[in-house]
Amino acid sequence: MSDVTIPPSDSLAVLEKQRSTAETFGIPLAVLLEITHRCPLQCPYCSNPVELDRSAKELTTAEWKKVLTELAEIGVLQVHFSGGEPTARKDLVELVKHASDVGLYTNLITSAVLLTRERLSDLADAGLCHVQISFQGIEEGLADRVGGYKGGHRKKLEVARWTRELDLPLTVNAVMHRQNLHQLPDMIQMALDLDADRLEVANVQYYGWALKNRAALMPTVAQLDKCTRTVVEARERLKGRLTIDYVVPDYYALRPKKCMGGWGRQFFNISPAGKVLPCHAAESITGLDFESVRSNHSIAWIWQNSEAFNRYRGTGWMKEPCKSCEFREIDFGGCRCQAFALTGDAANTDPACALSPLHETIFKQAEAEAGGETSRFLYRNFAGGTLESGNDA
Ligand code: SF4
Ligand code: SF4
Repeated sequence: MSDVTIPPSDSLAVLEKQRSTAETFGIPLAVLLEITHRCPLQCPYCSNPVELDRSAKELTTAEWKKVLTELAEIGVLQVHFSGGEPTARKDLVELVKHASDVGLYTNLITSAVLLTRERLSDLADAGLCHVQISFQGIEEGLADRVGGYKGGHRKKLEVARWTRELDLPLTVNAVMHRQNLHQLPDMIQMALDLDADRLEVANVQYYGWALKNRAALMPTVAQLDKCTRTVVEARERLKGRLTIDYVVPDYYALRPKKCMGGWGRQFFNISPAGKVLPCHAAESITGLDFESVRSNHSIAWIWQNSEAFNRYRGTGWMKEPCKSCEFREIDFGGCRCQAFALTGDAANTDPACALSPLHETIFKQAEAEAGGETSRFLYRNFAGGTLESGNDA
């Protein structure tokens, strides 16, 4: 962050007098737009909050366009249209067109199941630059069960092929957990077969819905070790053909991840209802009041001045052991949402850290759950979740 003194004003015009606003205020170059929480899938690890925004609360087309214009004005270069399922919004083509018109690079993060070839082609014509499709497995049986949507896997494969036919770059997002990690080598091959440029091997992170489903999703230590070896080997073998990003689950790590690059340092997202958030799980922390793009404040002001962004920015808020730890400016104490979910206080050290007094307990819990019998999912939906029918393994 810059050390420039910010006037207590809410005017972009004021901000713009001081060099480039993005440069001056450290505004992220890419922003995640969760334009709806509606989604036909019901993934048990969905990163959306357990308390989903209903469609009546969603920003209108005009409001999203205003947001896009403002983001471009303050120096943001790239927007990710996400959700929920962003294609559930009828105005997606119009929003992509507007984003493109104001000079933003656009990425669509989609489950793909609602897309037709014609609509994908319309999105490409509107200026869409990139498509990212999530996969739940490599074959229909497991993949459709995880997503809670019959026929989903087949449709995803079809849309991935259309994406490349339309000459759009493709990222395959593979969300991994105990029940599908054995398919990782085939997932890598599937990404190659689909002519993807990039594969994200994203182990589930345990907040919100995933925390509710932790006992059904938590991998064993042996599974994770194998997963890491597979990724390392594939990265070497496929250099120049497929870029592989790797997100590790932190319950078994010694140090926590630098979540979101540090709270309020490199990232913000906007919720369907227009809340500006330091991460997509941030609303799970009670007692924080997040400003909305519907308020009188500009997005630049919210980023720079709002109480919620400043509460855990930097290191001044830290308690021990983070406060005097040599890693405090490297990992910024880990994840605030995980600290809140597991300890009840977002200012505590993330228990993923071995120096947290709770780490041992959490590690043992994870190990026990990974070796347990629970396999049924609590599916994500607006009703607060539905338990999968049948019996546990
Ligand atoms: S994780 Fe699954 S349920 Fe959640 S938005 Fe993505 S596709 Fe939909
Ligand atoms: S004590 Fe805090 S700063 Fe140190 S490694 Fe753990 S989480 Fe990071």
